[in-house]
Amino acid sequence: MKFGGTSVQDAAAFARVAEIVAGEGENAPVVVTSAMSKVTDALLAAFELAKKGEVENAVLSLEPHFERHRAVARELLGEAHRRLFAVEMEFAEKELADLLMRVSRRSLPLSMLKDAIVSYGEQLSSRLLTFVCQSKNLNARHADARRLIVTDDEYGSAAPVWDETEKLIRLELRHLIEAGEIPVMGGFIAASRSGETTTLGRGGSDYSAALVGAALDAREIQIWTDVTGVLTSDPRICPEARTLKTLSYEEAAELAYFGAKVLHPKTIQPAVDLRIPVRVCNSHRPAERGTMILPSAQTTTRLVKSIAYKKGITILHISSARMLGAYGFMSAIFQIFERHRTVIDVVTTSEVSVSLTLDNTDSLEAVVRDLQRIASVEIERDQAVVCVVGSGLRDTAGVAGRIFTAIRDFNISLISHGASSVNMTFVVEETVVKDVIKRLHDEFFSAD
Ligand code: ADP
Ligand code: ASP
Ligand code: MG
Repeated sequence: MKFGGTSVQDAAAFARVAEIVAGEGENAPVVVTSAMSKVTDALLAAFELAKKGEVENAVLSLEPHFERHRAVARELLGEAHRRLFAVEMEFAEKELADLLMRVSRRSLPLSMLKDAIVSYGEQLSSRLLTFVCQSKNLNARHADARRLIVTDDEYGSAAPVWDETEKLIRLELRHLIEAGEIPVMGGFIAASRSGETTTLGRGGSDYSAALVGAALDAREIQIWTDVTGVLTSDPRICPEARTLKTLSYEEAAELAYFGAKVLHPKTIQPAVDLRIPVRVCNSHRPAERGTMILPSAQTTTRLVKSIAYKKGITILHISSARMLGAYGFMSAIFQIFERHRTVIDVVTTSEVSVSLTLDNTDSLEAVVRDLQRIASVEIERDQAVVCVVGSGLRDTAGVAGRIFTAIRDFNISLISHGASSVNMTFVVEETVVKDVIKRLHDEFFSAD
């Protein structure tokens, strides 16, 4: 059972979580929690301040967030637990002040310090949630995620080492569960083989939950958030968006990858490997059913299930006259991206050109420099990827027609759709993406 930031945003939310966990008490749950909402952002902002040498401001900026944790403790914990948590808080505050000082002095690699700092969000929320659960008479036990999830040392988006992680989770958590205890751990945080704190990337608590679920061969992985399941589109753009009852792994993976923030893109793979159902539900309205993500969703008459989008995309148009009929050109291009560890999202090709999109442009300059040795490159920034998902897209002629007719007055710079794929993906300018999403939502979901 994974609870996101808004599911532990204040005392009322913590109390609700304890109740939801109690409701699953018979089913041997493991609890994974995010940091309290906004805390990860605040820790990252503090890191940036310290980097500029403003250590005192950095420490001060965290105080309101420490106070939010204390307020929850005051409201929900008895005297003894409150005192124990106060000790944890004091330790965390000292450690953070020390780490921020090190940032300003550059006394350790910054990426390492950043993960150590940002991990306190989940370290504190998971300890606090353990105490809250214990106060509600649940047999909860804190488990340090850094002793359970082993990763490489790619700070900021570390990759789990599966075999070791699986072994550790089984070893550490199974006997707790068998003894009737409920392990409570922080999501998002892990440790490298050498024991340094790492993190799995923004929104990574979902991934932690999936790893734990897979290692323990759980009956179900539950993602508890602030909306009821996966909706037909982002409710912040389409307030009329509706909850989907079911979704296939394949559909969910595409949606998550192309921006539906409700699920971290890597969450699905561990579930797929062991065919574990993933349920997405609303911690603010626990009685509602939410969405079940399954090996293959029940067939519905619906052609399109959901529409996702991702902003901040850059397009590269790569062309070369030499490419005409030449083999090895594609390989040369992709090797450049590989060398600069840059992920490509969407690709289309014609006889003489390749267009592709990038989300992360940290190495853009170097990539373009290398590409220009073999081709000419044109860059378009501030673009958005739109991804229309539904297994109906696979065998239904005419859906593409409906999509592009609905948005015919917008300029589309790149389109991608494979014969067996469950998605139709294309790129528009960032400034029009909201209108495009609304138009498509009307087209496919307004009739009922
Ligand atoms: P948590 O803190 O629980 O992990 P997130 O903010 O990461 O929550 O994800 C939930 C948010 O995802 C929702 O509030 C919603 O605005 C957004 N979202 C975007 N696309 C979708 C979608 N298709 N279905 C549901 N939520 C979506
Ligand atoms: N707290 C982390 C974040 O805000 C991880 C998560 O919430 O999933 O990105
Ligand atoms: Mg999230």
